[in-house]
Amino acid sequence: MPAFQNLMQVFTLLDKSNCRQCNEKTCMAFAAAVFSGRRPLSDCPRVPPEIASRADRQSHTQASPPDEVEQQLADLRARLVTVDMADAARRTGAERRGNRLIVKIMGKDFAVDANGKIYTDIHANPWVTIPVLNYILHCKGAPVQDQWVPLRELPSGGDWYRLFGQRCEKPMKKIADVYPELFSDLVDIFNGQPVGGQFQADVALVLRPLPRIPLLICYWQAEDGMESNLNLFFDASAEANLGISGIYALGTGITRMFEKLAQRHGIG
Ligand code: SF4
Repeated sequence: MPAFQNLMQVFTLLDKSNCRQCNEKTCMAFAAAVFSGRRPLSDCPRVPPEIASRADRQSHTQASPPDEVEQQLADLRARLVTVDMADAARRTGAERRGNRLIVKIMGKDFAVDANGKIYTDIHANPWVTIPVLNYILHCKGAPVQDQWVPLRELPSGGDWYRLFGQRCEKPMKKIADVYPELFSDLVDIFNGQPVGGQFQADVALVLRPLPRIPLLICYWQAEDGMESNLNLFFDASAEANLGISGIYALGTGITRMFEKLAQRHGIG
């Protein structure tokens, strides 16, 4: 029985260096081999042994989805213990207070200590927590380039953009179609900044879900028989600071958040 619910859960555990020590061409190819049960995770020498052996043991006893999420969080926390917090603050653009990092998430404080314990006023569900912990672990501190690109134009985006379109952009468009106040709520609640002249969109809004990961949402209303459309754009530096699987997880997390927001208004 597989230990993972999806490919991304395996990929998140890899260091994404494409070093080929596992004899696969890329970390993504290795993740696919693990997910399909053809290879054990312990074949990657760069995965900490305690994480690899736990995953390999679980390949014989499938956990329920909530257990999988908890396991993923536990693995990320185990890695966080080894992180130099001063260096992490420099890389991530977070503030350091004592043994905590204060990461600004859409204008709100989200504090993490060296054990991965979370302190925040916002609802810290796994859709938020997993991308934040990934960001602290993997952010390389690349400066924002002020150049918006779709996911498919990020270095590894070609493998992910179809899934991203299905799981993020399409459901987000559906929410915007039936809940037009979405964008004004994003301004009021999440510090969204309306910007003009972006890709001739009817609505263009910048969010800052993580300090070095700005996100541009563009929405085109339906008109003249043309369907509405919604696309997300990232800064060209995004993959260096979160990794492609982290960007995907962030996108799905934000989509879930918008769904909850719409439900609070009795929609969906
Ligand atoms: S050995 Fe690990 S880090 Fe190197 S390519 Fe394979 S999966 Fe990626």
